[in-house]
Order: sequence, then structure tokens, then C-alpha cells
Amino acid sequence: MPRKVDFLVIGSGIAGLTFATKIPRPADILILTKKRKADTNTNYAQGGIASVFSNEDSFDSHIQDTLNAGVGICHKDAVEIMVSNGPRLVQELYDMGCRFSVDAQGKFLLGREGGHAKRRIVHAKDYTGYEIERVLLERAKQRGVVISENEIALDLVVDNDECCGVYYFDADTRRIDILYADATALATGGAGQVYMHTTNPPIATGDGIAMAFRAGTRIANMEFVQFHPTAVFTIQVDGRSFLISEAVRGEGGILKTTEGEPFMDKYSTAGNLAPRDIVARACVAEMKRLGTTHVLLDISHLPADFLRNRFPTIYDTCLRWGIDITREPIPVVPAAHYACGGIQVNTQGETSIKRLYALGESACTGVHGSNRLASNSLLEALVFATRAAQHAGDIAGLAIPRDVPINATPDKCPDRKLMIKEIMSRYVGVIRNKQGLIAARDQVRRLYAEIADGIHYKNAESLNMTHIALMIIESALRRQESRGLHYMEDHPGTDPEHAHDTVIDRTSILE
Ligand SMILES: Cc1cc2nc3c(=O)[nH]c(=O)nc-3n(C[C@H](O)[C@H](O)[C@H](O)COP(=O)(O)OP(=O)(O)OC[C@H]3O[C@@H](n4cnc5c(N)ncnc54)[C@H](O)[C@@H]3O)c2cc1C
Repeated sequence: MPRKVDFLVIGSGIAGLTFATKIPRPADILILTKKRKADTNTNYAQGGIASVFSNEDSFDSHIQDTLNAGVGICHKDAVEIMVSNGPRLVQELYDMGCRFSVDAQGKFLLGREGGHAKRRIVHAKDYTGYEIERVLLERAKQRGVVISENEIALDLVVDNDECCGVYYFDADTRRIDILYADATALATGGAGQVYMHTTNPPIATGDGIAMAFRAGTRIANMEFVQFHPTAVFTIQVDGRSFLISEAVRGEGGILKTTEGEPFMDKYSTAGNLAPRDIVARACVAEMKRLGTTHVLLDISHLPADFLRNRFPTIYDTCLRWGIDITREPIPVVPAAHYACGGIQVNTQGETSIKRLYALGESACTGVHGSNRLASNSLLEALVFATRAAQHAGDIAGLAIPRDVPINATPDKCPDRKLMIKEIMSRYVGVIRNKQGLIAARDQVRRLYAEIADGIHYKNAESLNMTHIALMIIESALRRQESRGLHYMEDHPGTDPEHAHDTVIDRTSILE
């Protein structure tokens, strides 16, 4: 008898856990997760979750800031849904036990981050994501959601344009098997691991996006990769570059060259609080100008007690690596941080394949347009996973298809991760040009030719990263302009003709 559940969720971050815990009826719900439950991007989010709570703030202001960051291609309807549902759902997390920082009257302490006109970042000191993950895992346990660790989803099972479940590698039996479900939700997070410097943990290899792409769904806006301007140069924690939250600049941190010169005022009237793309490009420009490997982020002018209390994780981690942030500047470098693009979905989280939802960072709801505003991603995941769960609640039972083959070729796929990272970092980083993108495409295509075909478990990630790289490069080549996060030095201006999503599918690249 094939194994079947009512709802199958791939991924145990904020998106997958929210979906699983909000299915509005009793159901058999299974989450597959690649490593341990909390090995997620969510767990590492520091800054917070953006939402309108202050009397001085308004939905209009949050909507406008989001649209401004996205430079003309945000989906306004989706932005309005995200912003207006924020306070209710963030409050719900707090009521569930999420220890967000509050003042003496119990009101949220609201942080300020780049691109936001107002203070609206709800946070739990500098470990907001850890708190959200903790509370949602607890809720999943209470609701009887089964979480299966060390299970890697490999590909979607699609029959007659319907998603019936996934092929997965069962860590217990060491076999590839099929899991069927009435509805499947991809919540596999981002793809930062296709770059050499990334703030994303090793799980972030874009698996869900690559699986959906192979299954034929529409994928949107992959060229818009957000580089966080301030990851610590040289410090790698658990396979990722350690991030210095934007909140550090929000509290007064100043970017300086290695010679100690502040430089952000040269690049933006917003100075150190300019949006991330401008700050990342400014850092790269200054590094290039002075021939240095990094720049500096200085917060040492603020009281030491304040810094230790407001940024305990950053303070402790840097200190372990010999940097005392209360006394000296932090060496920083831009690192791949967030995928604005992903599996194209509507405002209910539905993809272009029936019974398949995509959520969180693996999805493209259109809220970020060409650039994500800081702290909008946890909010996006929370709001749209909630809506998707409500929508999926009504789904009809699946008739399990007969004779689905298990087309597995284990062990044959060579590991090409490092080569992909090198190519992407050299040609498809913060600053791009057409010649470099074509060189990157040629090189990744050659790698693809070596590893294509079949379902692989040993190096499924290599195949997925190759597909992600091809999607980013192809989308970047289609956008011969600069907009938001995508900067082409041979087309530095924004072209109104390109004020739309870049939508691709497998036929654009593989066939
Ligand atoms: C260092 C850092 C700081 C950040 N700070 C903020 C912030 O302050 N505010 C904000 O809004 N956003 C922040 N972000 C972004 C935000 O954390 C992520 O966008 C968000 O957490 C993504 O949630 P998710 O549920 O979509 O994916 P994730 O939390 O990444 O979860 C993905 C899950 O999918 C699983 N998975 C992946 N592939 C497979 C597979 N093949 N089979 C089975 N399971 C699989 C993983 O194991 C994991 O459980 C930050 C990101 C990073 C990396």
C-alpha cells in the first residue's frame, strides 16, 4: 500500500510550520525536513518581523515603503494583504508565547530598519527567528503534526497536471520512495548556498524551487537575489557567513572604509539607513576603489551595556572570534541573503500545478518586487502560509495514480556545489554585466550536462543548485536594465519596458 497523508509539507521553517498548524480541520499532516527540525533560515533571523503597531505608523506607510523598495513591480494586492494581516498574526505569535521584546507597559519595542519610514520591527532582541521557530514547533507538537527529520524530498510526483506528492529519500530504509498527499506544500526556503558568501545555512540549496521547476511550474523573478551588505568577513558559523543585522545600523552603526572613513553619505541621502541594495553596491564599490576584501561596521560609539543587551547574539559571537563590538569596528562583506523570486503563486499560495502550494522564501507572491524590504519576509511567510492553509482545508481527496515509476539513479550524480558557488560569485553577484552572465551560463550548462537525468539522492543538492543557477542567470539575462537588486553595469538605468515580473519555466532553459 503506498503511503498517503492528507497534507504533506516540505520544510519546517516559519512557512511550513504555519501552514501545518493552521489547517482548519483535523487531518493527517506530515512535515518532511531535510535535517533537524530547527535547521532553517527562520531559526537564524535576527532583526525581526515588520508590522504596524505604532500610533505614528499606518498601513499606507508600510505599503508605500514596500512598494518603493520593489521599484515598480510589486504586486500591490499582495502587499496590501500582507501588511493589513500583519498585526493580527504577529500578535497571535506573541499570544502563543513568542517572547518579543516589550516595554514596561507590555507594548512591543519597535526597531527601525533601512527603507522603513517608521519604527515597525517587532523583535525578540536579536533572536527573533529562534523564538518564532521555538513557538511554532511547540504548536505543531500540540496539534499532532508529525515532523520527520533527515528526509530529503527529491522531486514532485505529478500526474495529469496534479501534484500527488513527492519522491523522497527515506533515511531509515535508505531507499527512494513515494509519499502521496491530497495537498503538498513546498516551504523549502531560499537558495543562498549557490553563492560563496551567504548568510543562509547549508539547507538553503533551493530544493523546492528546483523541484517545482522540473515539474513545470512557473518561476518568477529569480534575478533578484538580495545580498546582505554586512556579513562578518571570515567568520563562518555552521556553514554560513555570520550576519550583522540591519538593526545595528538602525541603532546608529556606521559603515566605514578600512581606513576609517564613513562612506554611505556619498551614495544615498538616507546614509547608513539606505536600502540594502544601495548599501551592498556601495560596499562593493568602496572595496574595489581601495582594493580591499571588506569594509567596517562601527557601533563602538554606543554604550557597551546597551550593545550587550540589545544585540546579545552578535556581541557573543563576535567576541568568540576576537572582535569586541563595544570597542572596535566589525569587518564586513556583502553576502547572498534572500531570494525575492521563487515559485510563482497567487495570494492563496497556489502554484500553476493543482494541489501544489508554495510558501515562504521558496515562493514568489510578488510582495517584494525587485527588492525585499527588511523584515518583510517573515511577515510574508506568516501571512501567506496562513491563507494557503485556509484554502487547502477544502481540498478534495486524491485518487492515488497507478503505476508511478520510481526512476532513481542513486550515487551517480557528481558533486558540483563548489564550482557553482565560484561561477555565481564571480559573474552573478551584486554587480553584473551581459558578458559575464553569458560566460556563467556556458559554464553552468557544461556542469549540468555532467549531472543531468534521473532522480539522485546522494547529490540531489548539486542538481538543484545547478538548476537554481541556470534560473538566476537566464532571468538576469532577460532583464537588460537595472532595477532594485539587479544591477547591470552595462545598463545602469531602469527601463519602463521592463516593469514586469520575469517569468520562466523549464521550457525556457532545458528544452
Ligand atoms: C541570517 C538570516 C537573518 C534573517 N533575518 C531576517 C529578519 O530579521 N527578518 C525577516 O523577515 N527575515 C529575515 N531573514 C529571512 C527569513 O529568515 C527567511 O526568509 C524565512 O525564515 C524563510 O522561511 P521559510 O519557512 O520559507 O524557510 P526556512 O526557514 O529556510 O525553512 C526551510 C525548510 O525546508 C527544509 N528543506 C529544504 N529543502 C528540503 C528538501 N529537499 N527536503 C526536505 N526538507 C527540505 C529545510 O530543512 C528547512 O526545514 C533572515 C535570513 C537569514 C539567513
